[in-house]
Amino acid sequence: MKPELRFIVNLRWFLSSYDGLKTDFPILPKRDLMSTVFTHPAIPLAIGLGINAGLLSSKSRSSTVPFRLLLLGCLFSVLPDLDVIGFELGVSYWSSYGHRGFTHSIFFAIVCGLTMMHWSQWLGASKKTVFLFLSISMMSHGFLDSMTYGGLGVAFFWPFDTTGEFMQWRPLPVSPIGIDRFFNRWGAYVIKTEFRLIWIPAMAVVIVATFAGWLFAVIRKFRKTRSSQSGPH
Ligand SMILES: [Zn+2]
Repeated sequence: MKPELRFIVNLRWFLSSYDGLKTDFPILPKRDLMSTVFTHPAIPLAIGLGINAGLLSSKSRSSTVPFRLLLLGCLFSVLPDLDVIGFELGVSYWSSYGHRGFTHSIFFAIVCGLTMMHWSQWLGASKKTVFLFLSISMMSHGFLDSMTYGGLGVAFFWPFDTTGEFMQWRPLPVSPIGIDRFFNRWGAYVIKTEFRLIWIPAMAVVIVATFAGWLFAVIRKFRKTRSSQSGPH
C-alpha cells in the first residue's frame, strides 16, 4: 500500500472511531491530547498585533500592546499545557489537576492575569491592558483545546464545575505530544489543518486591523486639513 493511502485509511479509522466522542472517552493513547503548542500563540499575536496596527496613528496609543507584553501573551497561551507534568507525577488522567484541568480554566487565567498586573510598569503597559491581554491569551488556550475532536473536555469552569467542556464546533485534530511522535504524517496533517483554520484567519485579522488603522489615519488627516482650511483667519 502506498504510504499516502495508508495515512488516509488511518485517518478514516481515527475519525470513525470518534463517534464515541460525545461520551468523552479518549480512544487515542492518553498522551495525544492537545492542540499544537506552536499554534496557541496565534491568538495573542492576532489580538496584540491587531490592536497595535489598528491604533497605529490613534490618540489612544496607551492601550497598545508593547513587545514584552506580546511575548508574554504568547507564553501565557501555551502555559496551560504544563499540566502534562501531571502525567509524570502520577496525577489521574480524569482528575481536574490532570491534563486539560484547572490550568485550562477561566478562573486560573484571571488569577494569572491579576498577578501579572504587579509587573505592568516593566511590561510597559497599563494595569488594565496587562490584565486583559494576558488573561485572554491564557483563556484562548482552553478555547482552542475545546475545539479539538479528541481527548477530554476542558475544565473551563473549575473550581465551580469540573465538567470537561467541548465546543459545538470541533474542527481541529489533536496533536501528538512529544517531538518524536509529532514529526510524522499525523503531525503534518495537524499542522496543515491548524494553519488553515487558525493561522490564516489570525493573519487576516491583523491585515484587516492594519487597513482599518490606516483608513482612520487618512480620514483624521483629511478632517484636520479641512478644519484648518475653513477655520477662522
Ligand atoms: Zn491544552
